[in-house]
Amino acid sequence: MASIPVCVPGECEAAGCDPVVCTGAGMPSNDRFFERSTEAIPGGVNSSIRAFKSVGGRPYIVARAEGAHVYDVEGTEYIDLVQSYGAVILGHAHPAITAAVQSAATGGTSYGAPTPREMKLAEAIGERVPSCEQVRFMNSGTEATSTAVRLARGYTGRDRVVIFHGNFHGATDALLAAGGSGVATLGLPGTAGVPAGAVAETMVVRYNQVPELDESVACVIVEPVAANMGVVAPAPGFLAGLRAECDRVGAVLIFDEVITGFRLGEGGAQAKYDVTPDLTTFGKVIGGGLPIGAVGGRRELMETLSPLGPVFHAGTLSGNPLATAAGLAALDHLDGDVYIELMARARHLAALLRDACAAAGFPAHFPVVGTLLGMVCGDVPAVVDFDGAKRTDEAAYGRFFHAMLAEGVAMAPGAYEAIFVGLAHTDAVIDEIADRAHRAATAAAASA
Ligand SMILES: *Cc1c(COP(=O)(O)O)cnc(C)c1O
Repeated sequence: MASIPVCVPGECEAAGCDPVVCTGAGMPSNDRFFERSTEAIPGGVNSSIRAFKSVGGRPYIVARAEGAHVYDVEGTEYIDLVQSYGAVILGHAHPAITAAVQSAATGGTSYGAPTPREMKLAEAIGERVPSCEQVRFMNSGTEATSTAVRLARGYTGRDRVVIFHGNFHGATDALLAAGGSGVATLGLPGTAGVPAGAVAETMVVRYNQVPELDESVACVIVEPVAANMGVVAPAPGFLAGLRAECDRVGAVLIFDEVITGFRLGEGGAQAKYDVTPDLTTFGKVIGGGLPIGAVGGRRELMETLSPLGPVFHAGTLSGNPLATAAGLAALDHLDGDVYIELMARARHLAALLRDACAAAGFPAHFPVVGTLLGMVCGDVPAVVDFDGAKRTDEAAYGRFFHAMLAEGVAMAPGAYEAIFVGLAHTDAVIDEIADRAHRAATAAAASA
């Protein structure tokens, strides 16, 4: 699959020249591509983590991918544990997804009118996640969480939003609030460009502790398994406690299942923990690797959205034919047995990585929650909240990350991301990862 890219100035027509990586001016190189990208694109990336800022160094530039592997523009092959941050659970360029997208594309890529596929995908989600009596599609997880919050505010007529420190809900102003250590804080912007007013009604509280709410609260939005501060399980009773507290004050409970939806199981985290939210946000897996987001919930709540209700929502590309075709193909391949297999693989890889790091004298642990796997570097206690997650030895992660990359294994370039195991990570691939991890951990321990 990894063709050797050839690009000789003036000889671009030469047999073997790969148009994807063709620069028109010499052999493609990661560094040269990245440099050129930084001229055209701020920081050379379209999502900030991709720039390698937290691990140092420069990103590899991906030319193509297949199954468990990605190939950079220089033709180097990596076993990929990023998997588009979980979006491509079937593996890259899965034939069923490729065929679905190709066939959809020949019928047009966007119409600005309702389509059969969006209806079928909404039904497919509703069948598997019973709390989603109705589903509305948009183009990203960010759009899903911002729509869900607007819906909750419009439905309740209240303004306050409660979020958990260390949870991530995409790049939407009201949810980009800074959390203080331990104390509940209100109205501190989490990034430049978010006015205090946008987060004035956003309360940030500690993960895994049920906050006491009052009747000013429109909604509580939570990652039912936190997967953006490492992988952190909900403490026993936490999700049920949120459900009860929301019920007590009439607030809407939103589960952000952008990662956990169709990854932890067909029914997501809400099935695994048997707690039913009012609204659920989806993204990642439900688009089969194409841009998508969705909000699902009870009919009566969902019908608060326009055109039936007063809460506006719209999107030129929402319910996109390619994304819904890919999503339907993905869900078609994801039944209960698949998740049993993925859980076994996540546990197996965690055990092998634990052994590899222990043998190399590189302190790290590998929490597993269902099919989700995390890595925590350093001699730190099990993580239950963001203060705990921050004890992670980020520098050690950076060393391990680069040592793995040198061994041909691509992990996420950040110490707080999950390790995404998918259907393409067969036993043979997992064994190979473990071998390389042993060498990488040895190198990372030696360079400490
Ligand atoms: C990735 C993610 C989002 C944002 O989704 P995008 O498609 O990147 O906008 C929201 N919530 C959670 C939990 C996520 O992991």
